Amino acid sequence: MDTLYDRANDPRAVIEADRAHVWHHLIQHKPFAPGPNQIDPRIMVEGRGLRVWDITGKEYVDAVSGGVWTVNVGYGRERIANALRDAVLKLNFWAGANGTIPGALFAETLIAKMPGMSRVYFSNSGSEANEKAFKMVRQIAHKVHGGKKWKILYRDRDYHGTTIACLSAGGQQERNALYGPFVPGFVQVPHCLEYRAGELAGEGYGERAADAIEEVILREGPDTVGALCLEPITAGGGIIVPPKGYWERVQDICRKYDILLHIDEVVCGIGRTGTWFGYQQFGIQPDIVTMAKGVASGYAAISCTVTTERVFEMFKDDTDRLGYFRDISTFGGCTGGPAAALENLAIVEEEDLLGNSARMGAKLHEKLSALMERQPLIGEVRGMGLFQGAELVADRQTREPLAEAKVQAVVADCAKQGVIIGASNRSMPGFNNTLLFAPALIATEDDLDQIVAAVEAALKRVA
Ligand code: PMP
Repeated sequence: MDTLYDRANDPRAVIEADRAHVWHHLIQHKPFAPGPNQIDPRIMVEGRGLRVWDITGKEYVDAVSGGVWTVNVGYGRERIANALRDAVLKLNFWAGANGTIPGALFAETLIAKMPGMSRVYFSNSGSEANEKAFKMVRQIAHKVHGGKKWKILYRDRDYHGTTIACLSAGGQQERNALYGPFVPGFVQVPHCLEYRAGELAGEGYGERAADAIEEVILREGPDTVGALCLEPITAGGGIIVPPKGYWERVQDICRKYDILLHIDEVVCGIGRTGTWFGYQQFGIQPDIVTMAKGVASGYAAISCTVTTERVFEMFKDDTDRLGYFRDISTFGGCTGGPAAALENLAIVEEEDLLGNSARMGAKLHEKLSALMERQPLIGEVRGMGLFQGAELVADRQTREPLAEAKVQAVVADCAKQGVIIGASNRSMPGFNNTLLFAPALIATEDDLDQIVAAVEAALKRVA
């Protein structure tokens, strides 16, 4: 019997099928339009470890785990494929009002890695996990706070997903520009990037940046604010590691005003920074944690909204017909997701990928910092674990950002050399200039050397 891949033995036919019919995410399609200057869409075919091959046979080192920091354990994991196959053949799906074996066992394993947390709500994407969290906060406002505390605070530069409610909580203005009007009740607080904080920067900046959140709460009225939703380290907004003193103060502010702390671990979750979750680097205790990408490393679509028992208890009320969480995600009942995720967590544990992320991340940070000594286009290197960014500037003194076209040229030059890196989202003038590195957590020092060498060559050419 012909497999799908046997049928794809004519690469040209695949490329033309794609050109004619696929609407790709997040890119302009004009360059693909048929004509004398047409370029081909890139079709990715195969992966092993952190190397991938496209349909022309070109090999790449993947420094961004599938483009969007997802494939944390790397490509070609047979034991995850087997776990998926077993789950699908045993019982591929059952709606989430009932349980399944993979769901129950994965939830138990996950919660064991999250002291203080208790309940796992399954869905399929980071956006959806965040929507569930927002809905929980809104329901708590109605049920527990008599209609108050409905507002949700989010931070400038952070991203929480692509749906209209998630964009309403999105701090990357240009991404939002064409999709309003937005959902009421989402309020922005300032970013915490010291490099771009102007006069606020310097000793005590962490506390000052957190105090800026308190100012927003006081302005809005504490009895209107139900939750604060933050990325532990801002990802697509430019790898922003909150400054010293920030998180302690944020936690205190949330407790002071009875505001739920919702941490979006869609990117940082499952070892990206060197601990299971990014928030665990900062010693804080969230009320709600959302996660997606690395949960099953992209082998299956699964996301989780994890809450404390205290949050869960607020939905247990049989005196009220509407007391329970009136929400479903159909595909949250697919068993492949939790089955793949269980195996994924086992791999992270058995291969000490948290340790490798921390160790190799420190090396990547060192190597990028050393490159910065030689290369004036790099203004700052920041990150934690295998999650690093290099902000590009036209002028180190003024910190004028490097033009977007040049940042994109660096990314394209690296791809030509066979190294796929990322660049921060084109969100706001002055912030669209950070190169992003988030290779699979199995990366070796040789991989890192190859990545940094490509970046150095690209920066020389672009300069
Ligand atoms: N939160 C963060 C921090 C993200 O980076 C993303 C995706 N890049 C999302 C949420 C949304 O996830 P998804 O694309 O799976 O909906």
